[in-house]
Amino acid sequence: MNTPGTALTVGKELVCFCTRCKMDLGHTIMSMMGGMPARVICRTCKSEHNYKPKKGVKEPGAIAASRGSPGTTTRAPRESKAEKTVPVELEWMKQLNSNTKAIRQYAANEHFLVGDRISHPTFGEGIIQKHIFPNKMEVLFRMDLKTLIHAPKPA
Ligand SMILES: [Zn+2]
Repeated sequence: MNTPGTALTVGKELVCFCTRCKMDLGHTIMSMMGGMPARVICRTCKSEHNYKPKKGVKEPGAIAASRGSPGTTTRAPRESKAEKTVPVELEWMKQLNSNTKAIRQYAANEHFLVGDRISHPTFGEGIIQKHIFPNKMEVLFRMDLKTLIHAPKPA
């Protein structure tokens, strides 16, 4: 598992917790046990002690401070901004639910009636909202209201 070059060996230096200085400091490994440093010497206070992993403490007294005061929770109030449904999608769902017509494939050379359900290759399923003279129609799709071309009403 150890990457060559970063493997810990006796005589190597590493940053770990000094039990005397009470902070993370550079130590020299004096002995190893099971792939982990066993005894280390602090390069600051020169004391030899058992290896203790880094605690992320840079200054004495910071341990207590980093624990946080009791009663304080990190739980933030949940706000569901992203879960809000887009109004157009809501309307789209409402119309689809109350529409019992068969879905027609959209084609620019066909005529569609208001209320028809169409399937568009890009926009998906939609409902015709109104005709725009002479050959356009407004269609409600899931994400947006689109204006599509269709054939004028057959004579
Ligand atoms: Zn020390």
